[in-house]
Amino acid sequence: MSKLSNEELLTEIQKFKANDVSTPEFMFTYIAQGFGIATNGFCLAWAKLDGEQESTDENNTFVTNSLMPLIKNHQKQVFQPFSFPEIHTTDCKECGGKGFTRPIKRKCEECGGSGEVEFGNTHNNYECECKTCGGAGEFVTKPDSSDGEKEICTAFNCVEGQLFDAVMPFYDGHINPLHLNMLKDYPDLQIAVKKGDSIGIGVDKYYFKSGNGLNIIIMGSRG
Ligand SMILES: [Zn+2]
Ligand SMILES: [Zn+2]
Repeated sequence: MSKLSNEELLTEIQKFKANDVSTPEFMFTYIAQGFGIATNGFCLAWAKLDGEQESTDENNTFVTNSLMPLIKNHQKQVFQPFSFPEIHTTDCKECGGKGFTRPIKRKCEECGGSGEVEFGNTHNNYECECKTCGGAGEFVTKPDSSDGEKEICTAFNCVEGQLFDAVMPFYDGHINPLHLNMLKDYPDLQIAVKKGDSIGIGVDKYYFKSGNGLNIIIMGSRG
């Protein structure tokens, strides 16, 4: 993979967009100042596009206020060759390595959650224990049962109960290998000699550039 064409660069950059709709700004590929740019909030990727580009997002405040300062900072860095660090996994403390947390409770429809059903005639009313739920009024799927619905663990970086972690070379810092893996086929990958300073949220930032024309910033996984 050598330097990519504009079309190939934009296809590659698009992989760094977010897939979910929680942050609308993360769902687009932007064109500004001759760059194609995309971010998912953890990684930011951009490339200088060849020739005259129609800058559709020159005045977009998310681009000018949040992304451009990072790109400017990246341009000041000195780079050195990068080799991929060893990857470790540990059990997520939130879910104990299971990948799901709280049991799911569902109200019994037969008794409306009271655990009792009424029956009777015009003279008498009887209440007795609901047979459907055994008087509990609800059904509970325990998180350690092998079937049934579960609440997926939402702890930061938890993937099916495992936390992926890699200690970065040169720095006393950590990175999520799931983010780093996006660069695994990139040629001549280089990393900035110095860790990124704190623009925006105050976590470590790792500055990369690749022989295919992409520049990438990845947030550290620990502050
Ligand atoms: Zn978890
Ligand atoms: Zn019931």
